[in-house]
Amino acid sequence: MKVEPTYERSLRIQLHGPGPSDVPEEVVRAMSVTTLGHLDPEFIKIMDETQSMLRALCQTKNRMTIPISGTGTSGMETLVANLVEAQDRQDRIVVVRNGFFGERIAEIVSRYGGEVVPIDLGWGTVVTPDEVREVFSRKRCQVLFLVHAETSTGALQQNMGEIGEIVRENGALFLVDTVTSLGGTEVKIDEWRIDAAYSGSQKCLSVPPGLSPVTLNERAMEKVRGRKVPSFYFDLGIIEQYWNEGHQRKYHCTAPINMIYGLHEGLRLVLKEGLDARFQRHRKNAAALQAGLEALGFTYVVKKQNERLPMLHAVYLPDGAEEGRLRGELRSSYNIEIGGGLGEFGGKVWRIGLMGHSSTEDEVYSLLNAIGEVFEKYDIVDDRAVGSEAAGAVYKDAESSC
Ligand SMILES: *Cc1c(COP(=O)(O)O)cnc(C)c1O
Repeated sequence: MKVEPTYERSLRIQLHGPGPSDVPEEVVRAMSVTTLGHLDPEFIKIMDETQSMLRALCQTKNRMTIPISGTGTSGMETLVANLVEAQDRQDRIVVVRNGFFGERIAEIVSRYGGEVVPIDLGWGTVVTPDEVREVFSRKRCQVLFLVHAETSTGALQQNMGEIGEIVRENGALFLVDTVTSLGGTEVKIDEWRIDAAYSGSQKCLSVPPGLSPVTLNERAMEKVRGRKVPSFYFDLGIIEQYWNEGHQRKYHCTAPINMIYGLHEGLRLVLKEGLDARFQRHRKNAAALQAGLEALGFTYVVKKQNERLPMLHAVYLPDGAEEGRLRGELRSSYNIEIGGGLGEFGGKVWRIGLMGHSSTEDEVYSLLNAIGEVFEKYDIVDDRAVGSEAAGAVYKDAESSC
């Protein structure tokens, strides 16, 4: 069998879907460094630095801030496995189901034997503090679990601090999915009283898929330590003894060494840019892309402007546009990947990502130019330039208001 080596294939794709996102050169270089042993003193230094940088990014002091070996869903499952009690007493877990990932959380909670108390909302909306208060007044629940940035609908949960306060007043734990938000918009773990959260390497951190940063405070870790976790691989009580800053470390499972090099470099780049500058960059490019998409005839799934994600644009196609064919053409003729709709949005919605490294002015124009050309070809617009011109006007306004 003759197989061409991967590194000799010319694969040049601009990733503008819901993740993975484009990986910067520095991260690729970091990942190609010689593999060390998982208990090597040099590697332990890299682990310690990775933890410190993750804490800075999450705006937390939590000692238990580590990457789990696995994609975002492994972080989701880690939280459920460690924090949902099913054996001695069945915990009640309030799950906000307003999109694909909220539904996945509910599925995992029930597989682990927790009782799901759903707050069912339309896709594209977010939960209000009053809705959260109402559930807790009806039933005693041990956990509230929600998705901060719902990648299937493009919705950004609001009022995080207020919701965190309500959950704390009710003696419950506040668990949050920050897979798409971390690195692209504010995530304030301590200030919002989030007890545990997880993320993913391949969205706004611009690192390949394979790691899921998680952070848990002492309230959450107390619950973990007091019980027998039904998963071995995701048992944070054991994992804690490997990521044991300043103390003797015990082997749990071999760490994915080169993935951690990549995360380390991704985090270094995030912090070098500065959190405020990075979030501002995401907002600015989002505003330009939005103007362009609207000029091309797209409409947003999320109706309220302040609830839209800067890093992921979920939009309905204009009437008559053939979703699959157009998206295929962007991939085959322009080397651009964007995402289709999940679940009930299949065939109706595009999900266009401007995540991390690839949220740039150049990328906004390249997306809008490509979509404009394809739309003109299929007579969806008369003028291919309407999108990029609308984006240009937004950039010009931003410049003159500085
Ligand atoms: C992508 C994503 C996940 C799942 O992450 P995987 O890396 O695919 O396992 C979970 N939650 C949200 C909000 C996501 O966007």
